[in-house]
Amino acid sequence: MDIEKLILDCETELSEVFRSFDTLSLYNTRKVLKAFVKNRVSAAHFMPTDGYGYGDAGREICDRLFAEIFEAEDGFARHSLVSGTHALTVGLFGLLRPGDTMLCATGIPYDTIHGVIGLTPHSGSLADFGIKYRQTENFMDIEEIKRTLLEDKTIKVVYLQRSRGYNGARRTLSVSEIGEVCSVVKSISDAFIMVDNCYGEFCEEHEPPFVGADLTVGSLIKNPGGGIAETGGYLVGTKKAVSLAAERLTAPSIGLECGASLGHTKPMIKGLFFAPHVVAQSLKAAALAAKIFETSGFTISPTPFEKRFDIIQTINLESPENVCAFCAGIQSMSPIDSSAVPEPWDMPGYDDPVIMAAGAFTQGASIELSADAPMRPPYSVFMQGGLTYESARIAIQAAAERVFKLNQ
Ligand SMILES: *Cc1c(COP(=O)(O)O)cnc(C)c1O
Repeated sequence: MDIEKLILDCETELSEVFRSFDTLSLYNTRKVLKAFVKNRVSAAHFMPTDGYGYGDAGREICDRLFAEIFEAEDGFARHSLVSGTHALTVGLFGLLRPGDTMLCATGIPYDTIHGVIGLTPHSGSLADFGIKYRQTENFMDIEEIKRTLLEDKTIKVVYLQRSRGYNGARRTLSVSEIGEVCSVVKSISDAFIMVDNCYGEFCEEHEPPFVGADLTVGSLIKNPGGGIAETGGYLVGTKKAVSLAAERLTAPSIGLECGASLGHTKPMIKGLFFAPHVVAQSLKAAALAAKIFETSGFTISPTPFEKRFDIIQTINLESPENVCAFCAGIQSMSPIDSSAVPEPWDMPGYDDPVIMAAGAFTQGASIELSADAPMRPPYSVFMQGGLTYESARIAIQAAAERVFKLNQ
């Protein structure tokens, strides 16, 4: 098969879709630039601070940029948040007190949050502090959320996970759908709405704070870091929710007043500048992979012309051999560690062996092209990221060549 020709045909068919991602990127870049201009970002803000980091103007500007770009009242981003899980933990412990309940309306949360909640017993978990967890039976069922809130007055946080994560069986939430939950919750209770926004940033024109989410949280080695932030996380939302999270981030009474930037402000701000464009590159890569594999008879989700609310592409490859071939192809055309051959391994926290292809400049950065798959039926691979469309296209071509060769 002539794969180059197949890809060119796919690109022709996707031209309208690609144009819509460019339009989205322009819209979001305008929003980003407006915040930069309004806050008069200057080179002086990039000066590293040390020690307590009192009066670090760069850190303060960076916080303002995150808040304004996410259309929130307040917010902060810190390189000292070690991951998305850490940022979500700060948010949950900020909002919840012993005796309170966290209600999740999007099914079982992302794997790494299980230990935080105490679904898998861990000292220091929410459960360990007497904070209860419950989950609606149905996914995003407004009536059930309403009923549950009315009958259980201990619910303090309604938790929504925007992205499907690595669960091929669920879909990703749109921001407007998140807004529907926000207005219902606010009409009957004082509970906070907290959103795990990982992988969703800049995939739409607005973010969850715009539709009323109290606290929206994510990782800087995914979308909003633009492939440039070297580590970190962010939390944005209402003044009240952000200040509760800030007291938990450092120490009560210190909040956001301290925290040396150590020179991370520049990559964080520069990453935010690049993020809308890089997300658009990732969206194009995802749509291309969807089109190539759909055309070749595989089941994929989302479909090439479906509206996308995150950067994850699921491809059902039907066999362990196909999954390994796909991941090996992606790895072989990664800028870093191209000579590594990914193999399934027993990763802590997962029931089945997991295979991962990742050749990223920043370790674990999934805004850079990567593919992961648990080795179990239906042998779905989750592909995401791509700093440039061109490099992602080349790696996807390598993956497709290897899979097609196995199935000739
Ligand atoms: C990535 C991710 C997280 C956080 O994961 P980290 O690896 O700790 O950054 C949480 N939820 C979802 C849906 C994610 O995709």
